[in-house]
Amino acid sequence: MVQILIDVHCHINLYLTIDQVIKNACDAGVEKIIAVAMSSISQERVLEIARRYNEVYASLGIHPEEVKMNEKIEQQLDSIIDFIRNNNQKICAIGEIGLDHHFVKNKELYPIQKRIFDKMLLLAQELNLPVNLHTKGAEKTVFDTLPSYNIPNINIHWYSGPEKFLNLGIDRGYFFSITPAISYSPAVKKVALKVDKEHLLLESDGPVKYSGSVGVPAMVKNILNSISMLKEINSDELERQIEENTRRIFPKIF
Ligand SMILES: [Zn+2]
Repeated sequence: MVQILIDVHCHINLYLTIDQVIKNACDAGVEKIIAVAMSSISQERVLEIARRYNEVYASLGIHPEEVKMNEKIEQQLDSIIDFIRNNNQKICAIGEIGLDHHFVKNKELYPIQKRIFDKMLLLAQELNLPVNLHTKGAEKTVFDTLPSYNIPNINIHWYSGPEKFLNLGIDRGYFFSITPAISYSPAVKKVALKVDKEHLLLESDGPVKYSGSVGVPAMVKNILNSISMLKEINSDELERQIEENTRRIFPKIF
């Protein structure tokens, strides 16, 4: 069986050279990339990129930092939800959604962020789609909120919060995607070590920078190798397992 690598979380609309990024990914064996939307304008852009490139699959949603970038976001929300609903057939997940109390310092924005998050979770439940979650600094509220919704599967992206909620996520069977930060971050290493191999996924979160270099989907090959060494699991076996995990959580990309 031919194995493939998948980048489950990439902001592909933010690269200047998408052709090259995708070509380099394919050369590294990364054949599928989930493009996650963030802002109101990125929804259509992500769909357009997914239409143009066979390797790219769209995930739509409103990022928690949007509340500080766009003061009209709450007024735009219903039309964004309609847009996502109308394009249900073309998307594999709802994301990047969640809460952020780390990069968003202004506490007055937290209630708006929470209302948007609840509407996004309700939409995922309605469309029966998995979610791609950002939890930075707001782990408790996110973990308290999730059981109120009936969502097929949960992907916690780049988890770096308290161990208590990591353990809770593991108990609840959530999937955790590992970024290139595994090369230097003790928090990310801990996630890769503690989460069983049946619940690990790979992501670039590109174009976020890692030690000064721009994150790209091709990097997920190195993440796989790092996890393989850390967990002492043969890299072929781990690659096969992670592909299977990805099929389980994001069946629409296969
Ligand atoms: Zn992201």
